[in-house]
Amino acid sequence: MSSRRLEARIPEGPLDKKWERAKFEMKLVNPANKRRFKVAVVGSGLAGASAAASLAELGYEIDCFCFQDSPRRAHSIAAQGGINAAKNYQNDGDSVFRLFYDTVKGGDFRAREANVYRLAEVSANIIDQCVAQGVPFAREYGGLLANRSFGGAQVSRTFYARGQTGQQLLLGAYQALSRQIAAGKVRMFPRTEMLDLVVDEGRATGIVVRDLVSGAVRRHAAHAVVLATGGYGNVFYLSTNAKGSNATAIWRAHKRGALFANPCYTQIHPTCIPVSGEHQSKLTLMSESLRNDGRIWVPLRGGDRRRAAEIPEAERDYYLERRYPAFGNLVPRDIASRAAKGVCDEGRGVGPGGLGVYLDFADSIRRLGRQAIAERYGNLFEMYERITGEDPYASPMRIYPAVHYAMGGLWVDYQLQSTVPGLFVLGEANFSDHGANRLGASALMQGLADGYFVIPYTIGNYIAGLMSSDRTRLDAESPAFAAAEAKVRERVARLLGIRGRRTADSFHRELGALMWEKCGMSRNRAGLTAALAEIPRLREEFWRDLNLLGDGDGLNQSLERAGRVADFLELGELLCRDALHREESCGGHFREEHQTPEGEAERDDERFRYVAAWEWMGEGEAQTLHREPLEFEHVHLAQRSYK
Ligand SMILES: Cc1cc2nc3c(=O)[nH]c(=O)nc-3n(C[C@H](O)[C@H](O)[C@H](O)COP(=O)(O)OP(=O)(O)OC[C@H]3O[C@@H](n4cnc5c(N)ncnc54)[C@H](O)[C@@H]3O)c2cc1C
Repeated sequence: MSSRRLEARIPEGPLDKKWERAKFEMKLVNPANKRRFKVAVVGSGLAGASAAASLAELGYEIDCFCFQDSPRRAHSIAAQGGINAAKNYQNDGDSVFRLFYDTVKGGDFRAREANVYRLAEVSANIIDQCVAQGVPFAREYGGLLANRSFGGAQVSRTFYARGQTGQQLLLGAYQALSRQIAAGKVRMFPRTEMLDLVVDEGRATGIVVRDLVSGAVRRHAAHAVVLATGGYGNVFYLSTNAKGSNATAIWRAHKRGALFANPCYTQIHPTCIPVSGEHQSKLTLMSESLRNDGRIWVPLRGGDRRRAAEIPEAERDYYLERRYPAFGNLVPRDIASRAAKGVCDEGRGVGPGGLGVYLDFADSIRRLGRQAIAERYGNLFEMYERITGEDPYASPMRIYPAVHYAMGGLWVDYQLQSTVPGLFVLGEANFSDHGANRLGASALMQGLADGYFVIPYTIGNYIAGLMSSDRTRLDAESPAFAAAEAKVRERVARLLGIRGRRTADSFHRELGALMWEKCGMSRNRAGLTAALAEIPRLREEFWRDLNLLGDGDGLNQSLERAGRVADFLELGELLCRDALHREESCGGHFREEHQTPEGEAERDDERFRYVAAWEWMGEGEAQTLHREPLEFEHVHLAQRSYK
């Protein structure tokens, strides 16, 4: 294993002065010069839309891409529960330092302190920015912004707009983006998929895309490329992510030299509607915010098949409240998920197949009234009833953990630049701030921090460097562009030429089942080794027996899917390799061999207190591991306790 140094570029000085210092030390581009520079922003979810709008507002020329028909359909729109910020509106003991502390601890001490502190620091600005845009956050009776609590925190710092926070935030970012489109500063390319990154003389100089409607393959040269392309949870096939979410952009960038960090850190969310059948293609989240008022329980006795209402109080086990009295139902997601799996493994699960636990609102409805609960969660209750046919006002919801979020992603330094100069990565697509487990309501915070408040500074620093080294010419005719375009065309032709028997979906489903079984909520050496033998076999079969109809000259969604599944088949292998090498348990990565006598995750800080960043070494070659050691100067390394 290599020890190639990963230069994180963390500024010197005290923790609370690092960002200020970095902003002062970074080079600036004057307003007249900004107009001469073009940035390609791939993705227009919360991270991409906020970045594109902010950079255009500064004066840069922006090309922005998304594969949906409108930026408003980015997966960010699905976010339900809320966004964290250290405003301390509740006067309940919150502060920038506490948000920083909770996030580092919640991530099981596997995140970079300096990045997390900056995130907490700018969190308050995000709320001000969004309020100024008109985002309709929930308010108290007197008009002040309301808050609720999310897992891993004992304060109420989560701002929300009913169960539609992502949608409202995205509308805010979208209108800022639309203003720049109308002003001619952003050229928007919807229904356009990035299929390769162009790297010339070691720098990112543009992308190659396919127009998903006409099938045309095009080149876009840029002085810098920003990837804000979301998470890769769909490598597990079944997840709470939008069906279209995929890894293609970051995976192709990985193959062009961007190191991939901590791929095995997968978040399994404890409160999702359980799988109901073999042909299901999507799982539905029930927001973590529900744990503010819902109590989680299972029958005390295994095999108890009575209806919930028939089980008396004394025969119920409110296992989170029992095991973690300090945090109760609001323990972090990794802990709540494993606890749910544990009680189901003991035979105490409820619903079909015993793979479910109750989330019960009866107490809260008695205490607050049905109306108050409807005001807080009405749209979630309605969604639940539509999907399951059961009324959660009358009987408890049944929930079970499901894949939800990818903490891993492309490695970035403090300036959000990947290991390819000129390639920046924002939002869920990077690995930066959540360590081995993300706290609820922190993804929206991170995506918007990256887009509104970090990249506007750091990209200027890079571009100023281009000016001083006289690298200002854009050249879409370079040999590097020609080679990337040829590769994209060759790959499309290869996929279309197989004419085998199995659909891309059937391969994806098989990969997902394998990943869930061997590399899901708990992992062990034997299972991971088996998966590492099985995935290359499946990949070989894919390239031999894929059945793909139609052609590449127009809209062909099977072709789009096949390209993404091909990438998942490679990423899945890296995910398992990373999980196998990390001989410890931390956050969302639970190795059965490494647990405390109470079944909690057991870290090995001596050997694994580092970011694992993997380098692509070529087709058929194993990736090389590089390590970025993590230093903890402000948070005491300890076993996490929520008791
Ligand atoms: C059901 C659900 C609920 C959630 N609720 C919350 C919550 O309450 N609070 C919270 O903090 N987090 C929540 N999350 C997590 C959060 O929503 C996401 O992490 C976040 O929205 C990701 O934003 P993003 O901008 O990074 O990516 P996305 O919103 O996924 O946007 C990705 C963009 O990239 C584009 N793209 C991708 N690949 C390509 C390509 N190859 N070429 C061109 N364009 C491409 C897409 O078109 C899209 O525009 C939730 C997640 C889920 C699944």
